Amino acid sequence: MKNLFENTKTAFLLKNNRQLLRAYLLFSILRYRFLVKVLSSIALFFSRFRSPFNPLIKISLFDHFCGGTTLKSCWKKIEEMKSYNVHSILDFSVEAHQTEKHFEDSVKKKLLLINAIKNKKAIPFSVFKPTCLGRYGLFKKKSDNLILTPKELMEWDEIIDRFDRVCNESVKQNIRVLIDAEEKEVQGAIDQLALKMMEKYNNKDVFVYNTVQMYRYDRLLYLKNIIKKKKEKTLLGIKLVRGAYMEKERLIAKKSKAQSPICKNKKETDNNYDLAIDFLFDNLNKVNFFIATHNEKSTLKVLELMKIYKLENTDKRIWFGQLYGMSDQITFNLAEKGYNVAKIVPFGPINNLIPYLIRRAQENSSVVGQSNRELLLIQAERKRRKENNY
Ligand SMILES: Cc1cc2nc3c(=O)[nH]c(=O)nc-3n(C[C@H](O)[C@H](O)[C@H](O)COP(=O)(O)OP(=O)(O)OC[C@H]3O[C@@H](n4cnc5c(N)ncnc54)[C@H](O)[C@@H]3O)c2cc1C
Repeated sequence: MKNLFENTKTAFLLKNNRQLLRAYLLFSILRYRFLVKVLSSIALFFSRFRSPFNPLIKISLFDHFCGGTTLKSCWKKIEEMKSYNVHSILDFSVEAHQTEKHFEDSVKKKLLLINAIKNKKAIPFSVFKPTCLGRYGLFKKKSDNLILTPKELMEWDEIIDRFDRVCNESVKQNIRVLIDAEEKEVQGAIDQLALKMMEKYNNKDVFVYNTVQMYRYDRLLYLKNIIKKKKEKTLLGIKLVRGAYMEKERLIAKKSKAQSPICKNKKETDNNYDLAIDFLFDNLNKVNFFIATHNEKSTLKVLELMKIYKLENTDKRIWFGQLYGMSDQITFNLAEKGYNVAKIVPFGPINNLIPYLIRRAQENSSVVGQSNRELLLIQAERKRRKENNY
């Protein structure tokens, strides 16, 4: 039987021939790792100024991987996707944060965004990165269980308050909220806060989701523990990812001569991810989950389990998610079959999004990686259209 995700006609419904050609050229170039490395360094250097390369970045990487520079400029894409049952999760990109003023601004922008998207069926989730709401060093100190100074205690209370304001506003506007996962050295504190929010807001329904990174070998045990220890009336929300900070984690571990928290190899991560899926299905009465992956095998495993557990495709306890500009074969084919699926749509000024775009370029530049799969599907669709004179 043909894999559901080989249906390129559905996958690229929203791309006209010109956009498909652009995607083809983009992913062809991204295969050259050295070139990506050089161009990334240049882009990062110029991102501090009004870069002469911005127009080029805009029509290539930015337009492919981002929604737009402002909320208004994203609407067309959001509405087009919704017409094919694909939801959006807007992620406003902000510059690196260091001061209390930045953190406050960040909360205010989140609250404004939540209010701008209320009542929009196309955007059922909001999302935030915890260290946009507080100092990285303080998350780290808290994660290490070190004693905080009185000033730090006040700072920590501010962070709790910011988490609470974002979650509270989301719940008030009937929008679910995804809390991103970050580096292990700050994740302990993020987990504590996320759990606090779930205990407060996930009583009758699941509004708050914490993210669990399965490239960490200790996370299956963590999942089992939080489900075992959770309060009776609290429902858990889990966004399941493999994890995005592998190189950095290995570097941090090497520097501190500690054991790396990452699974030994990709196969172990995949196995860990799949075991987590099995475990979540076994606990469906206690947890709702968001399968955030571009991995077709893991996604097919979830579909298979949904059949075994006799769940409707539309069961709202299970969501799937991919990043905008990636794995449309998963997103659009799932949406066509009625599954709950959403794209994370980053938006904001180009300069702010350069680091994000570099991460996407690098992720897509490995020989065995995503770009080959994207490229093969784009080629197949271009061939199909040619044969059908489309
Ligand atoms: C909607 C969405 C939300 C996301 N949110 C977050 C988030 O909050 N926090 C976060 O950290 N990431 C997040 N990510 C990124 C995610 O963690 C992965 O980096 C990315 O999705 C690639 O993994 P995959 O499952 O899609 O695909 P695959 O291509 O199957 O897996 C690639 C991943 O496998 C792991 N891996 C690769 N090589 C090795 C190796 N040698 N040893 C061990 N493991 C290896 C890495 O995690 C790598 O990213 C998100 C992704 C999506 C789609």
